[in-house]
Amino acid sequence: MKTTSSDAKAPLGAGSAGYNGPAGTAAPAGSAGGRPPGAWRLQGLGVLLFLFIPLVLFLFVRHPEPIAASLGLGIGLMLGHRFLARPYMARAVARKCVWCNRVLAPASGAVTEPLATDAGIETPAPGAAPPLPLALAAGGKPIAARCCAAHRAPAARFFRWLHLAGLPLRLGIFAPLLLLLAALAAAAAGHTQALPAATALFQLLIGLAVSAAAWGLLLVEAPAGSAPIPVPFPAHNFFLLGVRSLLWIFRLVGAWWIYRGLSFWWR
Ligand SMILES: [Zn+2]
Repeated sequence: MKTTSSDAKAPLGAGSAGYNGPAGTAAPAGSAGGRPPGAWRLQGLGVLLFLFIPLVLFLFVRHPEPIAASLGLGIGLMLGHRFLARPYMARAVARKCVWCNRVLAPASGAVTEPLATDAGIETPAPGAAPPLPLALAAGGKPIAARCCAAHRAPAARFFRWLHLAGLPLRLGIFAPLLLLLAALAAAAAGHTQALPAATALFQLLIGLAVSAAAWGLLLVEAPAGSAPIPVPFPAHNFFLLGVRSLLWIFRLVGAWWIYRGLSFWWR
C-alpha cells in the first residue's frame, strides 16, 4: 500500500499514536524499526476505539447535566461501539499480537520483503522465533488470535483465567452497571437521592471485578492443549490496545475506583 495524500490527513495516526509527520517521512525516533504509516494507523484506530470506553464511563460516573442526555449518549455509545470495534478486530486479529499489541509478520510463512514493506509490517529479526497462534472462541465462533512467541503463554493464561472466572466476573460487572443505569434513569426523572451511593457502589464493585480479572491470571497455568479458549466477554475489546496494556489500566483504575468507592462510605 502506497502512502497517499489522504494518509497524511487521516486523524488516526496523528496524535493518538505519536505519528505526526507528513506521508512518506520516517516514523519518529524511538519507534522500533521505523514502522510505516500503515502500522500506526492500525494502532491509532485501536486507541480511538478504546477511548469510547472511558468516555462512556465518564458519562455514567460523572453524569454531567442534563443526566438524561449523559445516560442516553452513554447507552448509545456503549451499544454502537461493537459495530465499529468488531470490524476492527477482524482486521487486527491476524496482524497484531493480542498480548503486547505489536504488529506481526504475516502468518503464511511466506515473509517476502515487498509484502512486509508495503503492508506496514515489522519484519522479524533474523533468527527471531515466529509468532504463534492462539485459538479463542466467542459466541461459538473461532477467533484465530496471534502472539509473539514469548507472549502466547501469558495471553493463554489470561484467557484461561477469564474463562474459569467468567460467571462471577460477568456478574461483578453487569450487576453494578444495571444498578447505576437504574439510578441514573431515576435521577433523570428527578429522583436523585440514590445516585451518589449507586455511583460509589458501581466504582467499588467494578474496581474489584477488573482487579480480579487483571491479577487473577497469576493463579492459573497456561492451558496444556491448543483447544480454543472461550472468551466470556465481547472479544473485540481485547484487540484494541492489546491485553497487556488493558490489564495495567484495569490494575491502576481498579485500585483508584476501590479507593473512591470505599471513601464514599468512610465519609
Ligand atoms: Zn507480543
